[in-house]
Amino acid sequence: MSITFHPANNYAFCAANNLNTIREEECLCVYDGHANSNCPYCKGTGVDRMEETPFEMNVANGNGWALLEILGITPDYSGCEDAQKFLDGVAFVRALNNVGHEPLVTEASEETGTGGCRIIHCGRTPEQVQRYLDTIEVIATEAKRRGVKITWG
Ligand SMILES: [Zn+2]
Repeated sequence: MSITFHPANNYAFCAANNLNTIREEECLCVYDGHANSNCPYCKGTGVDRMEETPFEMNVANGNGWALLEILGITPDYSGCEDAQKFLDGVAFVRALNNVGHEPLVTEASEETGTGGCRIIHCGRTPEQVQRYLDTIEVIATEAKRRGVKITWG
C-alpha cells in the first residue's frame, strides 16, 4: 500500500496544460527478446507506455505517515491540507536540522514474527528523507502557486 501526494486536481491541471508525459519501457512480458502477443499491457509490441504526471510523490504508507508526522500534519492514509502548512513543516524540519532524527530516519532491521516468518524493515536513509522533503517542497510550492491544497491518498 502507498500514499501519493499532489496538488488537488493535479492530473486534470497537468492534462489541460500538456504537462503529462508518456514514459516507454520494455514490457515485463518480454523474454529472450520476444514479447507475448497476448499481453494486455503492450498488446504484443514489447513496449509498455505509461502516462506520468509531474508534481506527484508516491511513498509507502509508513513513509507517508512518518513524513506527515514530522511536518506537523495529522497523519492519515488520505487527506487534504493547505500547501503552506507543508511548506512551514519543511522549513521547520530544516531549521532544526532535524533530518537525522526520528521518526523519519530509521535503521534497516529484521525480526522473526509469529510462526517464524521473517519481517524486514527497510528503514529510511537520510538521503531518502532529504529527497522526500525536497519533493514535497516542490509539490507544495506548485500547489500554492495554483492556489490549491495538497491532497494525498
Ligand atoms: Zn507486454
